[in-house]
Amino acid sequence: MNNASSRIVQVALKIPFADTLDYQLTGKIPKQIIGRRVRVPLGKNKLLVGVIIGLKNSSDYRKLKTVDAILDEQPLLNKNTLNLIKKAANYYQVSLGDMLMTALPAWFRKPDNPPIPQETWYKANIDPQTAKEKLQKAPKQWQVFDYIHANGPQMPAALSHLSASAAALCKQLTDKGLLQQSDRSFIDNKHIEQPDFTLTDDQQRVLKHIQNHNNHFNVSLLDGITGSGKTEVYIRSLMPLLEKGQQALVLVPEIGLTPQLFQTFSKRIEGRLAVFHSGLSDGARARVWQQAGAGHVDVVVATRSGLFTPFKNLAMILVDEEHDLSYKQQDGVRYSARDLAVLRGQIEDIPVVLGSATPAYESLRHALNNHYHWLTLRSRTNQKSLPNIQLQNLDSRKTHGGLTRKTLNDIEQQLDSGHQVLVFLNRRGWSPKLLCHDCGWIAECDDCDAYLTYHKHKDRLICHHCRRHYSLPEFCPNCGSQEMDTLGVGTEQVETALQQELGDYPVIRFDRDSVSTAKQWQQQLDRVRTGKPCVIVGTQMLAKGHDFPKLSLVVVVNVDNSFYSTDFRAEEYLAQLLIQVAGRAGRAETAGQVIIQTHQPKHEFFHTLLEQGYEQLARKGLEQRQDMQFPPFSHMAIIRAQHRYEDKLEAFLLELVDAIGQDPDVSVMGPLPAPMQKKQKLHRMQLILNASNRRSLHQLLKQLLKKHNPTAGPVRWFIDIDPVSFD
Ligand code: ADP
Ligand code: ZN
Ligand code: ZN
Repeated sequence: MNNASSRIVQVALKIPFADTLDYQLTGKIPKQIIGRRVRVPLGKNKLLVGVIIGLKNSSDYRKLKTVDAILDEQPLLNKNTLNLIKKAANYYQVSLGDMLMTALPAWFRKPDNPPIPQETWYKANIDPQTAKEKLQKAPKQWQVFDYIHANGPQMPAALSHLSASAAALCKQLTDKGLLQQSDRSFIDNKHIEQPDFTLTDDQQRVLKHIQNHNNHFNVSLLDGITGSGKTEVYIRSLMPLLEKGQQALVLVPEIGLTPQLFQTFSKRIEGRLAVFHSGLSDGARARVWQQAGAGHVDVVVATRSGLFTPFKNLAMILVDEEHDLSYKQQDGVRYSARDLAVLRGQIEDIPVVLGSATPAYESLRHALNNHYHWLTLRSRTNQKSLPNIQLQNLDSRKTHGGLTRKTLNDIEQQLDSGHQVLVFLNRRGWSPKLLCHDCGWIAECDDCDAYLTYHKHKDRLICHHCRRHYSLPEFCPNCGSQEMDTLGVGTEQVETALQQELGDYPVIRFDRDSVSTAKQWQQQLDRVRTGKPCVIVGTQMLAKGHDFPKLSLVVVVNVDNSFYSTDFRAEEYLAQLLIQVAGRAGRAETAGQVIIQTHQPKHEFFHTLLEQGYEQLARKGLEQRQDMQFPPFSHMAIIRAQHRYEDKLEAFLLELVDAIGQDPDVSVMGPLPAPMQKKQKLHRMQLILNASNRRSLHQLLKQLLKKHNPTAGPVRWFIDIDPVSFD
């Protein structure tokens, strides 16, 4: 193919009007040109980065522009990665260029193509026990060491939350031989620790299954309760592959919340481990790509965007906490990294392991109908029972800061016996509503279709959707009454009530208002880590990943909102959240207890979840979805649009409905107002497409995109395939 006639290359670019453009290539054409990046001119004076995806002998266009430069000495994307990106673009109904630019780390999107910078990294050079002894008199240095040990190599710039003089501390630790300077962002572990336990029978059975199926594509759903030893199974699944010189990709929902996983891996796996996530510098992420592509790292532990990392010899993909919604990107191209991990496994013909204590119903369905191997771990490795969950009726009882007298007593009792307590509530501020007692008026945002949250410390009403602040009205703007009061509780109010009730025990609040910087986060965490009795009041931010060994009681303040949600997945999400939060209790030394406060203790949801367990709840939920023909028994897409004027928006969406046309397999609902009808002055509407057949759905959307370009018209819209939320 490398002859004189094929001097035309097909370049994928992120441009609104086409998927690819043809360019002329001058000079000697290198071998293996496909998958390399090029810099190409567009229009009069623009230079863009694109990727060569094909060679051509002729083009439909006669006057072709010339490629300005080939940016890669080797293909950046190999055949499989390119194939993955093509299929993903097709699946998510975006242009190839769009998908490519979503996949490429920012560094590779720069047209000036600067070399990837050399950076100074520090990595732990000694085991933490010894380090701790040596650093007894240097707590700041210990903190830095401990962090680097737990999170892998770091640049001092990434340690500013620990100390303003992190660079100096790293230098001191290096002089003492505790840290080592490195130009690499990965660790190279040669001193693996052997675990002091043998696998349980359950673990052995599951592991054997994975190892017996590790040559070709297949998906295993590792469905194991919290503390059942999934991580150990992951590690041993990888080992034989790594020993053969192959590579693995491990996806985690949020790297900041799962340092334990990296830490455990880095102790146990002999080889080179790198992390990849948005907290790294652009240069560092580019380097991970380079190194994984060249086969210089063995395992990459990555968040969502790491899914596209090119590997030389990828042999397995693990997806931890596969049910987590963080895997679905919520802006730009709305891809699901979990679903694409399965697609990637198929393309590369390698096994994929999805792990969770609360598998997504979709994944369970695949397990139930034998598309996935269903591997269960139903007991904890330490033989401890799961936390005991009690429902606490909120009805007709007096509460203080949203907590019943009984709950408050239980909290106090735990503190008195030396334990820590977590009070979980997914609502910041003092109170989610401000209400007029006389006429029932409730304060709302002028720009959004949302109530304003009262923040007592700031003495402001704040919209949590657009962040607009309002001063407190002295009179009801509707009836002039002065009888204004708050309705409902937020974290500020819970904190204050607990402070009043508990005397000297510290109350430590974790939410976006009290913890806005990494430094504050660390400080609050340090207070908890002293192990002294305290109450932690926190939002979602605390639900995942954190191990607090002294935590014996978790209180969930109120979950009832989920029962009024219009989202057909609300109960699934609630069950996952409750099990996740409950899993925080009794992780180590103490037996765990969980109190869920609710107005609806008799709700069937609780009955099923607490008496029969998550699996049974999921089976029932799946039956309902089948009856209603909702995913995973149907295939859904939402067209979301917004505009300043509601009538224009609706008219436009009606036009789209016409353009979509009819298909017996696809029902089109709408235009419907979005659950939040207005946000930041823009009205929001949607069309919901629900199809019995995926092919029909995609066919219809493809036709639509031929007639309407989402970026061209006055109304902004996009397609969300397999939406995980209606808002
Ligand atoms: P999961 O990821 O399923 O919540 P982990 O993998 O974190 O569970 O395991 C919980 C704890 O049990 C860890 O401290 C791990 O080292 C330990 N562990 C794993 N397997 C065994 C085993 N077979 N015997 C004893 N302890 C184990
Ligand atoms: Zn009023
Ligand atoms: Zn607002």
